[in-house]
Amino acid sequence: MLKTHGCGELRAEHDGEQVTLAGWVHRRRDHGGLLFLDLRDSTGLVQVVVHPEHAPAAMAIASEVRNEFVLRIDGLVSKRLPGTENVELATGAIEVQAATVEVLNSSETPPFPINQDSDPGELTRLRYRYLDLRRERMARNLRLRHRVVKLIRDFMDARAFIEVETPVLGLATPEGARDYLVPSRVHPGSFYALPQSPQQWKQLLMVAGVDRYFQIARCYRDEDLRADRQPEFTQLDVEMAFVEEEDVLSLTEELYQHLAAELAPERPLPSPFPRMTYAEAMERFGSDKPDLRYGVEIADLTNHVRESEFRVFADAIAAGGRVRAIVVPGGGATPRREVDRLTEMAKEAGARGLVWVQFAGAGALDTLTDDDVKSPVGRFFTPAQLGSLGAACGAVRGDMLLIAADRDAITSRVLDVLRRHIAEAQALADPNALAFAFITQFPMFEWDETAERWSAVHHLFTSPFSDDYDLIESDPGSVRSRAYDIICNGQEIASGSIRIHRREILLRVLKTLGMSLDEAKARFGHMLEAFTFGAPPHGGIAPGIDRTVAIFAGERDIREVIAFPKTKSAADAMTGAPAPVSSAQLTEVHIALDAAAREALEQAASREA
Ligand code: ASP
Repeated sequence: MLKTHGCGELRAEHDGEQVTLAGWVHRRRDHGGLLFLDLRDSTGLVQVVVHPEHAPAAMAIASEVRNEFVLRIDGLVSKRLPGTENVELATGAIEVQAATVEVLNSSETPPFPINQDSDPGELTRLRYRYLDLRRERMARNLRLRHRVVKLIRDFMDARAFIEVETPVLGLATPEGARDYLVPSRVHPGSFYALPQSPQQWKQLLMVAGVDRYFQIARCYRDEDLRADRQPEFTQLDVEMAFVEEEDVLSLTEELYQHLAAELAPERPLPSPFPRMTYAEAMERFGSDKPDLRYGVEIADLTNHVRESEFRVFADAIAAGGRVRAIVVPGGGATPRREVDRLTEMAKEAGARGLVWVQFAGAGALDTLTDDDVKSPVGRFFTPAQLGSLGAACGAVRGDMLLIAADRDAITSRVLDVLRRHIAEAQALADPNALAFAFITQFPMFEWDETAERWSAVHHLFTSPFSDDYDLIESDPGSVRSRAYDIICNGQEIASGSIRIHRREILLRVLKTLGMSLDEAKARFGHMLEAFTFGAPPHGGIAPGIDRTVAIFAGERDIREVIAFPKTKSAADAMTGAPAPVSSAQLTEVHIALDAAAREALEQAASREA
């Protein structure tokens, strides 16, 4: 080793020891002839003092170094003088008196300071990711990620799960996204698909008798990126044979309780995790991943306005919709500008409009006069009627009601958007809380308006409730599935399900999804066949590792916990991937570029020239 200690390891008890350190210059300060260098390595920081009289040669070298130079330093650990200790620093009780200083490498001035948590912009951070990762926050996130994965592996191992690696080159496994394809050289015209998840492999491992499988698995999905999406991401993939919902849910809850106890003992976590059916979550929050750190629940006003003369409500109800509302706490005096903004947001979410009612004053919503209520629908309702709508939603004077009238799919989406906006604006969510919950009993199928066919809400290997088998063909929309999610703070952390393990049920589901027998056999023949050889009942789940780490790191964006993430356009800002390849390489894999691709390449080339 080039060093005897880590910079961050030195303490008062090392006083008087000769040490050799190696690391980066974090910061340098000249102080009345003395030179102070903060030296940094992966273990932390230590202050090195170079004295011009005691170590003139070291001084000559040290006075030439700049931030991020790589140094090796021999020196003596000395307790700092009383009153000069730095309590902010783990090594703050001591400093190292340099005897020799050697420059192992120089450094250009980095494009952003390493010793500060400044934001030079996403693209610069990703372009120089190796420098970004040198910074304290990112280094801490990487270490936390390692710890999370290690805790998970130990936890699973202790419960008799074995980790099995599954292929990256395979046949498409649908999870609702586009596949990344890899052309085959030896099978002209054929392609591998990168796994959207190891779903089929893990089910085949159950047929193989593995019983308890897990894998820290990379998944690849070609979809439009958002803050919480990456084209490749990591899951804790889990599958178990001979289990029911309860077994999978309690295992996962135990895992998260364990992670939280180890990583964030001070953060409040519900125990047991609350459970809610999909139907209840949609009814109360308009979302299947509600943030449960705050209330602002949706109320149903349909019965209260059924007789009203206000056409918008009457028409929505007549068309099979409902009138639903949320309360903006303290929103009674929200300025018109902001109310218009809420209306805009509602429209963007699909509403035709938004009805609002503001209540003035404070206290209960009785004895209201014209002066106490403000609303665009004031003509259609008396103040007392508006007051009783407010009371039905739990509002008091000083609050505002936001009312949407439409099909449930729309009112849910609209009120969910508004609910989250209000919570953000009013900081209703405790940033420290970990509001985990399970959502269960998702619908099996949903109607895809664009494709004009049924699609699987979770994935097509999910088992319907056996009570609902009879509905698979006759009424797909009301078939409940044995799928479940874990949510935390408004995000989906994991999805899973009890699976189909019988061939005929899988065939019936594939048929409802619009697949002919031939197509079903071509795409899933191996699964259909495997199920004929004594496939055991099984189920599993797949928590997202990136999101899990982000939650414990207190980061909003999963890119902060991934060493080398892609940009929003699925590119690698550092290496330039994806990149054009030579025509010889293309020929080898039997690929010809179309006109659009050739044009894009020419444009890119001329931009570079
Ligand atoms: N394969 C599923 C997913 O990636 C999870 C599961 O059902 O276990 O979402």
